[in-house]
Amino acid sequence: MTTIKVVEADITTLKVDAIVNAANTGLRGGGGVDGAIHRAAGMAELNAACAKFHGCRTGEAVITPGFKLPAKYIIHTPGPVWHGGNHNEDQLLANSYQHSLELAAQNNCRDVAFSSISTGVYGFPLERAAKIAIKTIRDFIQKDDSLKEVIICAFDPRTAKAYRQAIAE
Ligand code: ADP
Repeated sequence: MTTIKVVEADITTLKVDAIVNAANTGLRGGGGVDGAIHRAAGMAELNAACAKFHGCRTGEAVITPGFKLPAKYIIHTPGPVWHGGNHNEDQLLANSYQHSLELAAQNNCRDVAFSSISTGVYGFPLERAAKIAIKTIRDFIQKDDSLKEVIICAFDPRTAKAYRQAIAE
């Protein structure tokens, strides 16, 4: 059985098999969690590894080593930018979780920690994103129980609360 839990932490400190980065389609690093991950993993090495993919489409995911991070792998997924909700944002966000989970499982990960994809600068409404994230994770782990734990790594109490609420519903 796979468990889902919420922690409040800096994702770059987590010793898990994989962390999931809220990337951008250029995979070039940026602000927010993406910048923190690139700095902590080592800019030069991670940028070189990311450059090989020539970008990543919204809702897709790619995997690199974790380099200097305690995590073994980094899964990079560009979530959707919120444009009001009528631009396929819900489906694209679900795709980001789905493809990241698939990559984690394919790489024999036992545990994976997600950042709160799209709810920072990309402006996706938090409660709505949390519901989509938890539903997608639950649907996945029902079919594939190779992961032992899926962690949502929140960086602030409001985010932690939204995902805890979505789990409780
Ligand atoms: P996006 O562009 O997909 O919205 P952001 O990086 O702007 O991504 O925000 C996604 C979430 O990551 C936000 O909840 C933000 O507070 C959080 N975040 C920022 N830095 C970190 C970090 N070091 N560890 C975990 N989460 C972080």
